[in-house]
Amino acid sequence: MIYLDYQATTPLAPEAFEAMLPWLRDDFANPHSAHAPGRKAKAAVEAARDDVASLLPPGGELAFTGSATEALNWAIQGSSGPIVTIATEHAAVLDTVESEARRGRMATVLPVARDGLVDLDAARAAIVPGTGLVAAMLVNNEIGTIQPIAALADIAHSAGALLLCDAVQGFGRVAIPEGCDMVAISAHKIHGPKGIGALWMRKGVSLAPLLHGGGQEPGGRSGTLSPALCAGFGTAARLANARADADHAHVEQLFRAARARLGSEWTVNGSIDARYHGNLNLRRIGLDVARLISELRDIAFSAGSACASGSRRPSHVLRALGLSDAEARCSIRLGFGRYSNQDELLEALERIDAAARTQKVMA
Ligand code: PLP
Repeated sequence: MIYLDYQATTPLAPEAFEAMLPWLRDDFANPHSAHAPGRKAKAAVEAARDDVASLLPPGGELAFTGSATEALNWAIQGSSGPIVTIATEHAAVLDTVESEARRGRMATVLPVARDGLVDLDAARAAIVPGTGLVAAMLVNNEIGTIQPIAALADIAHSAGALLLCDAVQGFGRVAIPEGCDMVAISAHKIHGPKGIGALWMRKGVSLAPLLHGGGQEPGGRSGTLSPALCAGFGTAARLANARADADHAHVEQLFRAARARLGSEWTVNGSIDARYHGNLNLRRIGLDVARLISELRDIAFSAGSACASGSRRPSHVLRALGLSDAEARCSIRLGFGRYSNQDELLEALERIDAAARTQKVMA
């Protein structure tokens, strides 16, 4: 199997796996218990918190959550005032904003240009005094484009609003820009386990709780933490920190090699430069993506985001770039990173290209 779906999830780092085992097997105590084994588990949670927080700006607090989806729901539902967001956001943001709008909260969704980037003049016009929250993602999960978060944060702050950054696809790979008030992240996108995310909050930011209960985590997030998942997340963050330069160089090399191999029939969706290079979202006129995926079962790649892949709707991200339904439907997403091998990537591209050519001959 050649795995090229790093935006859906990343392979678990062996080090993160090992770090989790003791907390699953022997050290099972509740980290919120006051006895000795509970305190030992709590110490592991706090060490993990420090490791994750070391990749985030100073002067904030990190609350573990069950996922980035929960973190984003919390930040949006727990804040107040009109919301401004962007058409290419993840469903965890767009659907939550829509739900808030149905309950009467004002919401504005900014368009993007053909390159996937938000127009800052349109943002300035929409983010007016009285706005409560601006929600913008760092790296797009479908097309890899990087939004100008620091500039959006400046605009948000001039209007008195908070800036929530969905940094799920950038955390540990792209520096967190200055000016964020809240940052949502997820362990399984940085070679950590699934089932744990976090919300980082600048000191002084306070949110209404999303989950009511024991209020175990900073900001009042309730629920018993899993020391195993925390330890896996912390170890993954530590590795991302230690391997940042090597991982970056590897991804750049893979991106260059892949682009050099692509023929002119393939067009890259979204900006090439303002982009995380572990993503190639490609379109080819007339491509039958469902057939391509079913013909190449030993290559794991996708037609768009994993969450939307069950629906046969064209990607809302590609539609927001101004692509027609047909253009959006003939696009594929390839994602690669730390454990990807260049020969395998090039072999996959060759086979994808050959299968696409055959489709054309048979059409
Ligand atoms: N935001 C972005 C940009 C994502 O890519 C994802 C996951 O695909 C999420 C949010 C949700 O993360 P989680 O899987 O932790 O709920």
